[in-house]
Amino acid sequence: MPDVLALAGGVGGAKLAFGLASLLPPDRLTVVVNTGDDDAFHGLHVSPDIDTVVYTLAGKANRETGWGRQQDTFAALDALSELGAETWFRLGDRDLALHIRRTQLLREGHTLSEVTRDVCQRFGVEHAIVPMSDNAIRTVVETDQGVMSFQEYFVLHHSEPRVRRLVFKGIERATPSPWFEMAWQRADALVICPSNPFLSVDPILSIPGARNALASINGVRIAVSPIIGGKAVRGPAAKLFEQLGGGPADCVGVARRYAGLCTHLVIDRVDQALAPQIAALGIKPVVENTLMQTDDDRIELARAVLAVCETG
Ligand code: GDP
Ligand code: CA
Repeated sequence: MPDVLALAGGVGGAKLAFGLASLLPPDRLTVVVNTGDDDAFHGLHVSPDIDTVVYTLAGKANRETGWGRQQDTFAALDALSELGAETWFRLGDRDLALHIRRTQLLREGHTLSEVTRDVCQRFGVEHAIVPMSDNAIRTVVETDQGVMSFQEYFVLHHSEPRVRRLVFKGIERATPSPWFEMAWQRADALVICPSNPFLSVDPILSIPGARNALASINGVRIAVSPIIGGKAVRGPAAKLFEQLGGGPADCVGVARRYAGLCTHLVIDRVDQALAPQIAALGIKPVVENTLMQTDDDRIELARAVLAVCETG
């Protein structure tokens, strides 16, 4: 069984991470998660992508919204609104408990890695879910409507402003989290989950030293395309290809971003005709059903990915 290092953002990443965690024992999987989306709300440290992965692996995720916990209520947020606080970033009552606890532990001097590990243990998640870094890295979005935080762009403005540039503030001085670094030294397979290449995967790859270290993992390095039939399953990935000059939004564009890093790219059956263009970039195309609607879909796709990891 391969020792897998997986890179993930939120929703798309969590789905494949769930499949991988269903098939691999805890000591064979480390899921490294983007923290560029982290932000402070009501004085609390919120890590949306980590929480989506943790809730998903813990069986607590809200599948309808794609964020937050299932069967959550919003009494605290309603009360905050009554007091004049801005509440466009929706935080449920049970979700808030996690942010309160995380903020408290961070203030006591624990790292985000330690806090995440503690939360996982308490939720019964045995696989390692680790932040990409314990340093503060913030994705700042430069748009035609001004410079804004990632959550302002994504949640408040529904990804509508035209993006000119993404800046990962703090990245130059950031170091990888200790468990990320340990995983890249030990792993014999890299899996890039179908997460947003610009907003979720690029921050992880931009940590000094990360891309080179991952490219030298001695084994299969496989990504799953988040673009199916020229469209993102959800979120702004497709339009970012156009706005940030990555060419048209298709799985060939995804392959181009991972050229030199990945040995394989899983593309959807509907994109089968594009396989030769991916092969021409020096990446082996793997054609599968990549839309993960059910838990079985997630496990089947993870099984296909792991089969490539084992056979090359
Ligand atoms: P976010 O941080 O919540 O935006 O999550 P990610 O970056 O991890 O995932 C967003 C990406 O996941 C989008 O580009 C979607 O197209 C992709 N995605 C979501 N669900 C699926 C799926 O079932 N299959 C594939 N292939 N991609 C998906
Ligand atoms: Ca995210």
